Amino acid sequence: MWLRLVLILLLSGGGRLLAEVIDASTLSTELSARYVPHSDWQNVVDVDVLASRTAPRYWRTIDEIHSSRTARDLPLSGLHLALDPGHVGGRWAAAEGRNFRIAEDDFYVREGELVLEVAQRVQIQLQALGARVSLLREANTQVNPKAPIDYLEQAAEDVKAPENGSLATLWEYGCSLRDRAVRLSVISGELTERARVVNEQIQPDALISLHINAAPWPISRAVVSASESEPCGHSGDAKQRLVKVNHLHALIFGCMSEKELQSEEQQAQLAVKLLNGSGAMELLLGAKLVEALADATKLPAANYQGRNAILLSTEQPYLFARNLLLLRGVECPTVMLEPYIANSVEVYARIQSALAARAVGAALAEDDILLEYSGAVVDAVVACYGSK
Ligand SMILES: [Zn+2]
Repeated sequence: MWLRLVLILLLSGGGRLLAEVIDASTLSTELSARYVPHSDWQNVVDVDVLASRTAPRYWRTIDEIHSSRTARDLPLSGLHLALDPGHVGGRWAAAEGRNFRIAEDDFYVREGELVLEVAQRVQIQLQALGARVSLLREANTQVNPKAPIDYLEQAAEDVKAPENGSLATLWEYGCSLRDRAVRLSVISGELTERARVVNEQIQPDALISLHINAAPWPISRAVVSASESEPCGHSGDAKQRLVKVNHLHALIFGCMSEKELQSEEQQAQLAVKLLNGSGAMELLLGAKLVEALADATKLPAANYQGRNAILLSTEQPYLFARNLLLLRGVECPTVMLEPYIANSVEVYARIQSALAARAVGAALAEDDILLEYSGAVVDAVVACYGSK
């Protein structure tokens, strides 16, 4: 099966730009250390077959970009970068679970909207340095053209039908159907569409996915009573308690589980990522990004408990591999940034100050959190791709 998948991949890659050759022992090391670190990939993957193949790629390496640049060009001339402002925000912020405030007078904290501003600021600054920068979205709207209603049939297959005909049960079923359809459209369908747009339309040299992290809310009676008062909704107004922890990390593709490796779709995506060489570039770009963010924010590194992520090097405590849909599906080097804990005492206050300044059109503070974030991303891209 694996062999068949690889052949299909390679035959369907016509028209792409470039290809890499990677030897079997390098592939083995990569699979054990990064891509499938916790299980026996040998049962599924034949590295000798893989090593005899190449995977075409649309993106260019740093050397290829440098060699197309002359001394008179701007420092980032020739680079085509895509930026993914994570999530959607706007009307979907609550359904995404990324919409909260602590007090009624506070501004809502909506990750999708905050990272859109970061992306727009990074875009302007990188363009001034000569890069071409594509944003996956330019507003708080979906990239996925399929709305929740388009997923209703699939949702009906996923949600268990009511066992009795009471109105309460029917109401609950309707809510579950709606929530499932929204999830399929705004989360999984959205991510699949973003990966498709990057691979088939934008075809950049790299993708940076911008997020702001959050910690699980401490359980409190107030949160429970708020959700009970609105059994079929997303109030976003629960009286929640901020946390103290604040940290930074970035993610690149890897750390597939044994079960995930059984999926034919995921096998095919792994083959592309392994053979097109994006892994090494992700390590390089990821390191530059976390170095710049750590320097700007002074935040400590996050720590993953469990087996869903793996630290790639003890020398780089901020960079982890994880098997997420976007990281796996995008063929070019892709790094997902997770700085700050939005629901921490410190970051919540900084976000409130940032939003208050924007609400009245005041000059932004020197330590404005979104300026800090965007400035660090710009520094990292220059450090990685800048003039040689
Ligand atoms: Zn996020």
